[in-house]
Amino acid sequence: MTRRTRLAPSPTGALHLGNARTFLINWALAKQQGWELLLRIEDLDTPRTKPGATEQAVEDLRWLGLTWDTGPVTQRIDLSPYEAALDRLDARGLTYRCPATRQEIAAAASAPHGDEHELRYPGLYRPSTDSPPFPFDNDEPTAVRVIVPDEPITFTDELHGPRSVNVQQHVGDFVIASKVGLPAYQLAVVVDDARQGVTDVVRGDDLLASTARQALLYRLLSLGPPPRYFHVPLVLGPDGRRLAKRHGDTRLSSYRGKGVPAERVIALLARWSGVPDTGEAMSAETFAQRFTLDTLPLEPAVMTEGDDAWLRDPV
Ligand code: GLU
Repeated sequence: MTRRTRLAPSPTGALHLGNARTFLINWALAKQQGWELLLRIEDLDTPRTKPGATEQAVEDLRWLGLTWDTGPVTQRIDLSPYEAALDRLDARGLTYRCPATRQEIAAAASAPHGDEHELRYPGLYRPSTDSPPFPFDNDEPTAVRVIVPDEPITFTDELHGPRSVNVQQHVGDFVIASKVGLPAYQLAVVVDDARQGVTDVVRGDDLLASTARQALLYRLLSLGPPPRYFHVPLVLGPDGRRLAKRHGDTRLSSYRGKGVPAERVIALLARWSGVPDTGEAMSAETFAQRFTLDTLPLEPAVMTEGDDAWLRDPV
């Protein structure tokens, strides 16, 4: 069987050092294991997608020295595969429309569950057999939610081991199509990984919390076994929060614009990835030869001001 992985940037902003590290590790594993590589641009997340960000991401990845066999493929160009999946769930009686606003959900939720930004949806508009269906005004924007069973969903992560999550208790019936009528991330990623033959998913461990939802959708859509998952620890800023704009300009394009060689960026990413003997510069190829999951630290990497100064230091 051909094994395949994907690099899946979202064109919601420029790639920074944290994204670059995950993509580099993903690419290195593909090289080592002989997996095919697909570049998939996840451009359904409106209004957060930014014009020009797709071209920029492709350029940034090329600059680092990463390559792929197929793509870039985008999601928005053809929505029919997601619509077919929604229809399949609908035909099984597993979906319902929901006009609830975030405020309404927050007011109804008894206690915060799920993640920082994720409230558990307490089933406000879930249809029930003993009450009439909710009347909707056809102009009213509604999201579509999937009916989630109240039971543990299990999967195994190659780095974090076996996991069991009761998705209903964690986030409740979750959104699979947004109020603007686009497929939500959880549905799109499953439909795409399945139809594109993705067998190995390498991504940041902020998505570990989404994986049970995705494993459930594989089951509800009868898509066969989900891929193998490798959730790589994130890069944090010195304050312990996920690397972002507040930590200064760590965009690849900014280092490139200042004349920092890609090999110097990779040397820093290598140091953050448990690669021994990282010198002043390293190519992506050399990284792929030296990187091993066995020495990848499972705690997050922390970017310091010293790291930024080291990168910008003219060689
Ligand atoms: N596009 C997502 C991101 O940039 C990755 C989704 C995934 O790998 O499943 O965070």
